[in-house]
Amino acid sequence: EGKIKRLDNDVDKLRVRRKDSDTLKVIENVFDNATLKALYTLSNKGIVEALGGSISTGKEANVFLASGENEKDIAVKIYRISSSTFRSMEDYILGDPRFSNVRHNKRDIIFAWTRKEFRNLMRAKAAGIRVPEPIITERNILIMEFMGENGNPYPLLKETKLDEEEGQKIFETIVEDMHKLYKEASLVHGDLSEYNILIDPEDITPIIIDMGQSVTLEHPRADQFLRRDIENLLRYFKRYKIDASPQSIYERIKRT
Ligand code: ATP
Ligand code: MN
Repeated sequence: EGKIKRLDNDVDKLRVRRKDSDTLKVIENVFDNATLKALYTLSNKGIVEALGGSISTGKEANVFLASGENEKDIAVKIYRISSSTFRSMEDYILGDPRFSNVRHNKRDIIFAWTRKEFRNLMRAKAAGIRVPEPIITERNILIMEFMGENGNPYPLLKETKLDEEEGQKIFETIVEDMHKLYKEASLVHGDLSEYNILIDPEDITPIIIDMGQSVTLEHPRADQFLRRDIENLLRYFKRYKIDASPQSIYERIKRT
């Protein structure tokens, strides 16, 4: 009873829209107190003005729409501390020299993962790739630019109907992005697929998202991840009559 009352007050502080009962349920049931505290910290800093509706519930993270500074829409990605797949997270963190001093407990690995996604998005953005601009992290929470319009996220590549010409143009842009990511940012995405690419319907350009698992080129499995990304992409773009060989795309990405 006490806990519910306290959460209720806290949720009031976050100004969760009352009509958004789904969001309320998720926040009260899914997130531990430490995550709630991190949300209040962001709220006190003025970074999160009001939490809006749920955009997505994934294996490891929930994504919400929120209102940020100057009522600008932002995306709030919250990695669940209770996530059961942190073992595989550990594999990605341990090969990355940027995180060599991270302690091996679950919470710290998830916090490191959150910072890793922030830094990967920064590097991708600096390399000239269209990604959500990261704003800040707080523990297991990543705040970033909201990619969408009027509170609606842009559709996934998976959900977008394209003609052949549009499909081929998007494919070319993605390969160029992978090249920039490799050469300028020294990163391999590691989970590139039609589920982690949004399409801006205005100019039909791809936006790459979900970079928590992206690794630097020193990672022992970087090359394997690159080849897997290429296979996924070619599998999907077959429908737009792309029939390049995996090896030719691999060479394009690695050329100087
Ligand atoms: P995992 O499945 O590994 O737990 P995830 O796939 O849930 O992670 P993301 O792919 O980053 O995490 O995001 C999930 C969904 O939320 C995306 O498919 C997209 O629809 C939406 N989304 C994520 N980031 C943004 C953003 N910056 N702007 C708008 N929508 C976003
Ligand atoms: Mn995803």
